[in-house]
Amino acid sequence: MKIVKSGGQEIFDIELEKDLLSRNRKLAKENKRLFDESNIMSIDIMGSIGSGKTSMIKAILRKLAMGKKVAVIAGDLTTTIDADRIEEEGPQVIQVNTGKECHLDAHLIRQAVRRMKLDGVKILFIENVGNLICPGEFPLGAHKRLVVVSVTEGPYTIMKHPYIFKEADVIVLNKIDLAKAMKVSPSRLEQDAKKINPHVPFIRANALKGVGIPKIINALGIKS
Ligand code: MG
Repeated sequence: MKIVKSGGQEIFDIELEKDLLSRNRKLAKENKRLFDESNIMSIDIMGSIGSGKTSMIKAILRKLAMGKKVAVIAGDLTTTIDADRIEEEGPQVIQVNTGKECHLDAHLIRQAVRRMKLDGVKILFIENVGNLICPGEFPLGAHKRLVVVSVTEGPYTIMKHPYIFKEADVIVLNKIDLAKAMKVSPSRLEQDAKKINPHVPFIRANALKGVGIPKIINALGIKS
């Protein structure tokens, strides 16, 4: 089999990308410092469209029942669908629309945080734009990064996205109730995850039913 590998970029593209990534990392550090100074624990939630990020955040909010002590930044290209759903659970919600960008970045988070009422907020969830490629490269300054993957994404999703799963502090396998129907083996997916990121907690969940939610809260180290 003949394989073409990327890496043959023009020097200009490489320099541009390096510059962009290092600028983002610098802003991410500043964000983290602000979160630390404000005593806010921040969590970046990544995963494909339809993996269940919003449903999981809603389930966590219901379990925590902390009202406005929780803030959520919802990233999406153009809609407010997720932000509206999350708002039903009572937290402070800020929508960030990225337009054509496939990920949030540290600068957008800083802008969102400037619009937030920080007073009294203990926990900040950031729902990243739905995909398993771009968000991994752009840390936001969050204390923890969680990746949600659902069994409906098929048997090879984790293997095919090594970079984002390497970035994860917690991995959630969602829609576990559908594994049989999808002919997907949760244990196989867990093995794939362990190969990429051996020590990371791997939690099986059904966010709509609340299954696995206490374990996720525990793995994130959230104390309500
Ligand atoms: Mg969502």
